[in-house]
Amino acid sequence: MADYILALDQGTTSSRAILFDRDGKACASASLEFPQYYPQPGWVEHDAEEIWASQLEVARRVLAVSRVAARDLAAIGITNQRETVVLWERATGRPLHRAIVWQCRRTAPHCERIKAEGFDRVLREKTGLVTDAYFSGTKLAWLFENIPAARERAERGELACGTIDTWLLWKLTGGRVHATDVSNASRTLLFNLHSLAWDDEILRYFRLPASLLPAVKSSSEIFGETELFGGRIAVAGVAGDQQAALFGQQCFRRGMVKNTYGTGCFLLMNTGAEIPRSASGLLSTVGWQRQGRTTYALEGSVFIAGAALQWLRDELQLLKDAAESEAMASAVPDTHGVYFVPAFVGLGAPHWDGFARGAIVGLTRGANRQHLVRAALEAIAYQTREVVDAMARDSGVRPESLRVDGGAARNNFLCQFQADILGFPVERPANTESTALGAAYLAGLATGFWKDEQELDSQFKIERRFEPAMPPSQREELFAGWLRAVERAKAWAR
Ligand code: ADP
Repeated sequence: MADYILALDQGTTSSRAILFDRDGKACASASLEFPQYYPQPGWVEHDAEEIWASQLEVARRVLAVSRVAARDLAAIGITNQRETVVLWERATGRPLHRAIVWQCRRTAPHCERIKAEGFDRVLREKTGLVTDAYFSGTKLAWLFENIPAARERAERGELACGTIDTWLLWKLTGGRVHATDVSNASRTLLFNLHSLAWDDEILRYFRLPASLLPAVKSSSEIFGETELFGGRIAVAGVAGDQQAALFGQQCFRRGMVKNTYGTGCFLLMNTGAEIPRSASGLLSTVGWQRQGRTTYALEGSVFIAGAALQWLRDELQLLKDAAESEAMASAVPDTHGVYFVPAFVGLGAPHWDGFARGAIVGLTRGANRQHLVRAALEAIAYQTREVVDAMARDSGVRPESLRVDGGAARNNFLCQFQADILGFPVERPANTESTALGAAYLAGLATGFWKDEQELDSQFKIERRFEPAMPPSQREELFAGWLRAVERAKAWAR
């Protein structure tokens, strides 16, 4: 009897493999970093073969250390860094170029041209995304502009492309399966959210032959089988990392929101069967598809969150590690009127000001480093509230709670202040491996390892729930101060 699900979590800097048991408990994990390539300022690449080698290695390691064989595995689930794109030769599986990573800005000028032509409106309407170098479409177009004969070869059907899930599936199945799931497809700028298919008009616009693209499947079904681990194992769940985290956090109902607090923050709200439309510049995307039903989501991110603490640590040397911030912030009753707007790289939703820059305002003679550290943590919570408010406005649903994960979610001060400033509870689950767990759930549901969402429900344990304790008048006064501080930071570099 198979007792485990293996989740492959292919991230931006490391590949991880995590083994989950029937209770959704992470029993063992292994992780390996792989090289990053920066060929020019603002450019980021990965070697797809290095990604695959590291992913295979950690999968083998985790099975070896836990003495789990292929027959003990009910299925494999994949979750991955999104938008990063690989182009390879079908006959040999050899990539034609390094993978272009989501962070890579090389196609920013192309995006400007698209906007000048007005095609960004078509893209927004059809794909739910904004025209930005972040997404795969212009990266793929770049490969065709820059690899000699690639277009002719693609037209002859010799090439295949895909996001990292597709690449891993191809490798796991020995080139038998060329497929992706709807959540990954929805990040490419080539996928129509309404028809849930690759969009011909967009493919023509980018001059990309349809034969290149993977088949699009749901997020929870049998994609194929791998024989690389000493027996046949079904690959049965695939989702992009943020969507997998939303599923792993069990945000199954409309209006449920998760926030991952890392370097930046990634927020996703389940908007149910409706494609959300945002008036605040949030992205509309597919959460997942299961049993023929598609769940959509609104997505918003905060560029600088935990990174503000890293800055205080590394550049100002106000603290030795990020974890110290909790005690420092708790040692003072407030920030002494200080606001820290960490707009180091501009501001995202709902402000969208690329010219905003970091600002510390409200300084008076009594302000000290504890106040500044506290202001950095509060800034994470304020920025999160701005995105949550935008989500509530756009979807018309007020969330009941915020489910949190990521490195900085360990900070109790931050979680409490977040609840205070939102005016509703923050829930921190006992299992913080939300992303890998989401991929495991999708794979386990497809293979009958778990029956349905209700069964998973009983596994969800909240380690700590933070209830709002701040009077509403104080909350709104503090938040109004934040909005004034943001105004000071805007348009600075113009
Ligand atoms: P990523 O996946 O983006 O690299 P992680 O989820 O590993 O991020 O979280 C790391 C980030 O969280 C860092 O920016 C760090 O400053 C911040 N961080 C980690 N622990 C804490 C803490 N206890 N309090 C506040 N911030 C923290």
